[in-house]
Parts: sequence; structure tokens; C-alpha cells
Amino acid sequence: MLGQMMQMPLLISNLLVHAERHHGAGEIVSRRVEGDIHRQTYRDLARRSRQLAKAIAALGVQPGERVATLAWNTHRHMELYYAVSGQGAVLHTLNPRLHPDQLVWIAEHAEDQVLCFDMTFWPLIQAVASRLSTVKHFVAMTSATHMPTGEAAAKVPGLLCFEDLVAAQDDAYSWPSFDENTASSLCYTSGTTGNPKGVLYSHRSTILHAYAGALPDALNVSQRDCVLPVVPMFHVNAWSLPYLGCMTGCKLVFPGPGLDGKSLYELFEAEQVTMSAGVPTVWQGLLAFVEAGGLKFSTMRRTVIGGSACPPAMIRAFHEKYDVQVLHAWGMTEMSPLGTVCTLKNKHLAASQEERYAVMAKQGVAIFGVDMKIVDPEGHELPWGTEAGGDLLVRGPWIVASYFRGDGGDPLQDGWFPTGDVAKIDADGYMQITDRSKDVIKSGGEWIGSIDLENIAMAHPAVAMAACIAMPHPKWDERPLLVVVRKPGADVTREQLLAFYDGKIAKWWTPDDVVFVDAIPLGATGKMQKNKLREQMRGYALPTA
Ligand code: ADP
Repeated sequence: MLGQMMQMPLLISNLLVHAERHHGAGEIVSRRVEGDIHRQTYRDLARRSRQLAKAIAALGVQPGERVATLAWNTHRHMELYYAVSGQGAVLHTLNPRLHPDQLVWIAEHAEDQVLCFDMTFWPLIQAVASRLSTVKHFVAMTSATHMPTGEAAAKVPGLLCFEDLVAAQDDAYSWPSFDENTASSLCYTSGTTGNPKGVLYSHRSTILHAYAGALPDALNVSQRDCVLPVVPMFHVNAWSLPYLGCMTGCKLVFPGPGLDGKSLYELFEAEQVTMSAGVPTVWQGLLAFVEAGGLKFSTMRRTVIGGSACPPAMIRAFHEKYDVQVLHAWGMTEMSPLGTVCTLKNKHLAASQEERYAVMAKQGVAIFGVDMKIVDPEGHELPWGTEAGGDLLVRGPWIVASYFRGDGGDPLQDGWFPTGDVAKIDADGYMQITDRSKDVIKSGGEWIGSIDLENIAMAHPAVAMAACIAMPHPKWDERPLLVVVRKPGADVTREQLLAFYDGKIAKWWTPDDVVFVDAIPLGATGKMQKNKLREQMRGYALPTA
């Protein structure tokens, strides 16, 4: 027997309609590439998105075709999120930090028809435009007065001005209705091995993911919040925050290109931001700035940290020095991205602060909609609540079923998606990532968790960044090498760092050696690139004693 309820597709445009009707006066503040602070309401967002949707359709974009962006977090990018997906086309967010050759490869693979870019990336556009065979229009996300001119502009065919396009349309437009399984946006995984793979989200997957993400034990976003997404809108849809904005009507603050500690801090204070989200490397910059100036956060109370493991020392510093709660979260491009978020359960409220920190260092509990399990090398499910770690598999309605255009192989294994992460799950369901499978260190047949070793090093006051990688070893096959960037002006020796591990881990986990470097290579989303680091360290001889 079928239920007897209304059938209404879950569409991204519904979010915008909701925000306009119910939170029309809600604010969206942006630091723009032009340097000014721009303010608009959800009502303005809805109106301009309708104008933009008409403008994009007028460029000849058909439903299902890809419109790419190369842009910071600003209101214009937000307008594209709704205008493109809302009309049934696909928003393809390109990551400007990728190598130009890789960008070209991805845009060609996606067959992008229109490319909208912030003026920061004008030099990049000039360099790659002639290689983008499918792009018919390049839209500079600025107003007429800031448009490129002269010979350089003439060399980019189909160059258009975003604000002129919007101004040329009125806002008499009704969002079309279509199947909720229609594609809405496209992201490519960074492809540390092989070519990047496209993950094509649907309206349904995006809305379900947003519902789950807003829950109190997930990102906990409400109308009373003022949210500043530091995580870029080109990094897995800024972890859903552009959608949560319209869903909840919270105030949104977009930092534009200003991602340094000073610019961010000024915006946090001036706009009274209550929550934020980003990768650990961004928070390092912000914390260093706040600490150096003896500053405090007057309104910020929570921040989501994910994308790579958040060092426990950072969770502690945020809590003890600034009264900011870290929500440690885990996910990936293939998961839209949210999988787990670490919030405390009722039973932890009576626990000591140290016990709470131990829980908060984990990646957290699956949000409803995501199921997860760990398996041994033969694929047998492992029990929870033991020390056994294994490959982490997930499934759910916002997890990839196949890659875009089928390139990248079949991602599933018996209906589950193998994440490539190695994890443990405790008796309460808290998952903890110990490694990415390709970064695992195997010593004498036993695993050493590189994230644990990095977290300990990061707790040392002189350490700015630490990576632990496997080095070949004649007796043990592999042994850990710790690569460290010292904090500016700080000093620590190899011996002091190795002694710092005493009593914190099993003796045989202690790295064999420490190498100090000026920088650790970071990828386009701010993660340490251990494959590059391993290459740089190739040939380095560990001490034999
Ligand atoms: P890519 O795989 O291209 O680097 P993603 O952004 O999809 O891009 O990265 C997903 C991976 O990032 C996860 O599989 C995991 O290895 C890592 N990751 C994400 N969040 C965390 C976290 N909180 N702790 C540890 N690792 C994390």
C-alpha cells in the first residue's frame, strides 16, 4: 500500500524560495575581490539569482550542461549556486589552486560551457582560455568598471561581465520543476593517484545531505547563527553551508579572497560570527594571529574542522584559550561530503574534561543517512569497541554510486563505498581515522598510525606542522620518519622531539628519525601531500642503530 502524501521533488530552488519567503531580511555579507564589504538580504539573493538564471539560459546553456566557477566565497558565487542548479543546469566548481594543466583537463572532461571567474584568476584565465575547447563564454564576476580591457581582454573570446548580465534581465522567472534525481552540481576529487574523478550530485542528495547536516548533533546551524564558511565553495560545496544558509535563514558572511588570519579575524569580530568551518591549516594561521595579538573571539562559539585530522592540541587551544567548541568532522568529495561529526553524547557530560578531549579527537558518529562499517583485508566486518582497525566503508543516499561519465572505475564494493581510509569504531559508534590506506606505515607486518604520531608532534609547542611517512627499512620493511616544520622563532631538536613521544605511545611506534624542513607540500584543499613528501625524501637514509 502506498502512502498518501504529496509528491514534491526535493529541489535546490526550493531552498531559495523558502529563504525569500521566510527569512527575506536575513543578511549575506561578503568581502569582495574589489576590496569592499558588500551586503545583501536573502530577498536580494533570490531576486538576483532569478535574473542570473535568465541570463545563463540566454547564453544558450541547456538543462544538464555544466557551468563552471573559478571563484572565492562571495554573494556572486552563492547566486551562481542557485541560478545554475535551480534552472536544471549543473554547477561545476573548479579549484583554482590546482595546476593549470589539471584545471584544463577537468574543464575539458566536464565539457564546461560557461566559465565564471573572479578577477583574481584573470591571469589564469588568460593562460588557459585557448585550451578550453568547450567553453563558449567567460564571465568575469565583477561590474563594468572593473572589467579587463585592451589586448588581453580581446584575446579571451566570449568575455562577458557578470553584473551587466544580471542587470540586463528582470526577475520575472519561475523556477522549473523536475525530477529530484536530476544532476545539480559536480566536483572532482583531487586525484592524488590517476586522473581526477567527477562526483555528480543530485538535487535530492544535496537536500537530504543539507537536512542531516543542519541537525544539532551535526553542524547545528540555526537562524540565530552567523556563519562564516572559510571552507571554499569550490571544496565540496563548502560542506553544504551555502544550502544551510537558505534552509535556516542564518546570517552568512563570505570572506572572499581574505583567508589570512588578520582578514578573517576582523570579519569574525565586525560581523559577530558565531560559527565557522574550515580545514586545520586555515585555523593554524588564524590562531597564530589571535595569539600574537593577545586577542579573543567575542562572539565565535563553534567551528567545524575537517578535511584532514584536526590535531587534539588545536581542539584544546580553541576550548581553553578562546571558549570555542571544535566540531571535528569527517567526509569526502564522494560523500557530499559529510559522514561523521564529533559531538558529545549525554553520558560524556559527566565525564572529566580530559575524557571529553579524548572523545573529541575522534572523527565522530555517523549522521543519520550514512551507514558505516570497518572490514578486514578479506572484507569481513570487524566488531566495534575493540582495538581492531580496518578499511572504512560507507553507504547512503548522498554517497557516490558511479563516477561522472564512468571514468574512474566502479567505486562500489557489494553496494558499499570503500573510503580509502583506515579506521576504528568504538562501542559508542565514534569512528576514528588512523590513516589513509595509501599512507599507512607497516612495520614488521604491524600498522603504525601516522595520524597519531602527527597529533603528538603537533602538541609540542615548537611544532607548526608535522607529517609522518613510511621509509623503507631493511629489517622492518617500513619505519616512520617524522618531518617537521618548526614555528617561527621556536627551537626544538630531533632528540627532544623523539623524547616527547616517551610514554605516549608503544615504544616501537616512535619515529626512527626527525627531519626539519621549511615547508611541507600542501594540496589544493590545504591537505599535506604525503605522496610528494615521500618523493622528496626518497633516498633519505634512516639511522641504522
Ligand atoms: P581528496 O580525497 O581528493 O583529498 P576529499 O576532500 O574528498 O579530497 O578528501 C577526503 C579525505 O580526507 C578522506 O578520505 C580522509 O582521508 C581525509 N579526511 C577528511 N576529513 C578528515 C578528518 N576529520 N580526519 C582525518 N582525515 C580526514
